[in-house]
Amino acid sequence: MMKKYFTTPIYYVNDIPHIGHAYCTLATDTLVRYWRKKLGKENVFFLTGTDENSQKTVDAAKLAGKPIPEYLEGMAKIWRTTFEKIGIEFDDFIRTTEERHLKKVHELFTKIHEGGDIYKGKYTGKYCHGCETFLKESELDEEGNCPDHKKPPVDLEEENYFFRLSKYEKPLLELYEKNPSFLEPESRRNEILNFIKSGLEDISISRETSEFGISLPIDENHKVYVWFDALINYLSGLPDGEKSEFWGEAVHIIGKDITRFHCVIWPAMLLAAGIKPYKQVFAHGFFTIDGQKMSKSLGNVVSPVELAEKYGNDALRVGLIGSFEFGHDGDFSLSHFDGFYNSKLAGGVGNLFNRVVVLIHKFLDGKKPEEGEREEDVLTKFNQALEKQELQRAINIFFEYVGSANQLLNETEVWKLVKEDLEASKKVFATLLQKLEILAEMAEVILPETAPRMRKMLGNAEKVGEPEILFERK
Ligand SMILES: [Zn+2]
Repeated sequence: MMKKYFTTPIYYVNDIPHIGHAYCTLATDTLVRYWRKKLGKENVFFLTGTDENSQKTVDAAKLAGKPIPEYLEGMAKIWRTTFEKIGIEFDDFIRTTEERHLKKVHELFTKIHEGGDIYKGKYTGKYCHGCETFLKESELDEEGNCPDHKKPPVDLEEENYFFRLSKYEKPLLELYEKNPSFLEPESRRNEILNFIKSGLEDISISRETSEFGISLPIDENHKVYVWFDALINYLSGLPDGEKSEFWGEAVHIIGKDITRFHCVIWPAMLLAAGIKPYKQVFAHGFFTIDGQKMSKSLGNVVSPVELAEKYGNDALRVGLIGSFEFGHDGDFSLSHFDGFYNSKLAGGVGNLFNRVVVLIHKFLDGKKPEEGEREEDVLTKFNQALEKQELQRAINIFFEYVGSANQLLNETEVWKLVKEDLEASKKVFATLLQKLEILAEMAEVILPETAPRMRKMLGNAEKVGEPEILFERK
């Protein structure tokens, strides 16, 4: 049986999850649900988790006035329960302070070291503490600042261990050539190919000054660089790691800002360790909230939990993922969320299910008419969209189909027709029920908490179930 392995990035625990993290994780969860439905739950593995071996952790713990382990424990729990609360069903949650992770980092480091691709050297460069990385002159903005953090990087000289990334220029290009979908969307692929072609430099992978992290297996005084350590979670969080039958099918869903780490350094690390690289990285875009960049100073940081508590997990999921194309930048309209919820969910799909079931109770005593024709092509299109990771398109197909069913209901005026021509009205009801069946099937992927309630309303082979309100009006 085919296997699928999906990962999200592991998240920094210096803050609580905001809606951007929820977006990435909900999008991945939605893809996972599609594949679980198609292949069976046991053939799909979904990993998420927290990135804890960072200077950010040390700083945040200090600020919170807590010992680091206690701080980490509390924050990891918040991340985990937030994801659970908003309806994300991961198979495992990896924390990079766990023993299993440390073991895998040491194992991989040793393999690469024994292969001759790790050496000791001196490094002088410009270091951004926000990014936790050295930046090239060419990467700074006009004022000499880090473009992401708007702060000047500091000059740092360190004795470090280096990874011979330069050696992997050609192997990486070959890897990309052989695997056209190794990195999607295409715009990102071109960006990374240009970066590799412009020449790769060896990178420093240890820190002598770090207060916290995983010590090098070959030098106690050095800590593994947080990125080198973090990427390995994709192996340490998978039972049996690279030996697992899931590994060859790994799809890493990430934000576009961390493409370089994932698509240059990570595959080079794997090649250096003699491990077959993952199957694909998919980099999604960033979104604004009502046209504005989300930031603490603007006070427009949106809590996914608050939104889910008000509107429900499914509304958060489709509202967010449906707002813009997966893989592109976009906008999430918080000010129109009420409108979206009332028109598409409460007044759209919720009202449709309710009306049809109520009418069948009223006029046909709840009895289902003979089966209508099933419009398989809609389902096929929906599934194809998900296989191509076109999440927004899948959601659009669903709501368009809701629209077509509502149109049929209104145009036939079946509540009048039933009094004039019973047989004709039965045909309409049969068609409507088939449409609802298809919607319930699609809902298993995009509205997973509503889907079982839809099924219940659709009843058994003979009779429909009791009508209920799927989405309360707000
Ligand atoms: Zn920075």
